[in-house]
Amino acid sequence: MATSTANAEEESIYDQRMALFKKIETLTQIPWYYFAAIDNYERNIKDSSEPEQVISITIPSEIWFGIGNPSSNIDERAISLFNGSGSDGNGDGQADPTNAEDILQTTANLLLEYGQTEDDIKIALWNHYQRDLTVQTIMNTAKVFETYQSINLTDRDFPVSLQHNYSYRNTWGARRGFGGRRIHEGTDIFAGYGAPIKSTTYGVVELMGWNLYGGWRVGIRDIYNIYHYYAHMNGYSEGLKVGQVVKPGDVLGSVGSSGYGPPGTSGKFPPHLHYGMYKDNGYSEWSFDPYPYLKRWERMARQKKN
Ligand SMILES: [Zn+2]
Repeated sequence: MATSTANAEEESIYDQRMALFKKIETLTQIPWYYFAAIDNYERNIKDSSEPEQVISITIPSEIWFGIGNPSSNIDERAISLFNGSGSDGNGDGQADPTNAEDILQTTANLLLEYGQTEDDIKIALWNHYQRDLTVQTIMNTAKVFETYQSINLTDRDFPVSLQHNYSYRNTWGARRGFGGRRIHEGTDIFAGYGAPIKSTTYGVVELMGWNLYGGWRVGIRDIYNIYHYYAHMNGYSEGLKVGQVVKPGDVLGSVGSSGYGPPGTSGKFPPHLHYGMYKDNGYSEWSFDPYPYLKRWERMARQKKN
C-alpha cells in the first residue's frame, strides 16, 4: 500500500507521545490521559500548516518565564527568580519551552497547584484556559483516551448503515424552506425510517433531546475539537445518554423525519439524517462541509465490509 510509510511514521509519533505521557504520570501521579487530552486539544486548535510537534502544548511566555522577566534565558534558576513556571523535565537544568519533557513537567506543575483528582484538574483547566468549551473538550477527550487506553484512535464509520438503501449529495450552503434565511449547514442522507444511525467517530455524547428544527438530535464532541450533529432521528438507542463515550459504528438511534415543530412533530419531510460538523478553534465554532468526509468514510466502511 502506498500509505504504509506514512502510517508507520504516525504510529511511531503516537508511541513517542504515549511514552512521555506514561513517564509524567509516574512522576506526578496525574493520570496520563489528562496530559494526552491537553496535548491533543492544543494540537487541534493550531494552524494545521505548522509542522506537527511531538507535544503541542504551548504555555504562554509570561507564565513560562514569569511576568516582567525581560529575558528568555531558559536556565531554570533564572526563570524561578521571576516566579516563572517553566520547569526542567529532562534533567539538563534548562526549562526549554520547546522541549517535550520540559513542557509536560511544567504542565504537571500547573495542574498540581490544584491537585490530582478529576475535579482538581477541571478547576486547574478552567483557571488556565478560562473557557467552558475548552475544559469540556479536554475532559471528554481524556475520557475517550482512558476508555480505549490509546491515543491512536483514527478509525471512522459512515453514519448510515451500508446494508440499507440511502442516498446523499452535496447540499452544503443550499437555502432551506423552514426557519427563514438559514443556510443548510450539513449533508442530508436520505434513508428509510428505522435505518440505523451510527457514530462516525470516537467521542462523547454532549447533547440529546428535542430541537425545533432538528427534532430528536444527538451531538457528539470528538477528540479533534469537532462537534458532530445528527438530526431528525426517529428515536435513540436504548440507554444512550449524555456523557457516554462512543466509538465509530456505535448505533445512536435510527433515521426519521422528526422536527420542524413542537416535540413529537414528524413527517413534514421525507425521512433522512441531517449530519453536520462544527470545528472549534479555541475561540469560536463554525460549521464546515461534511460531504468530503462522508465520501471518505463511506469508502472506509465499504472496504471493511469486503
Ligand atoms: Zn439537513
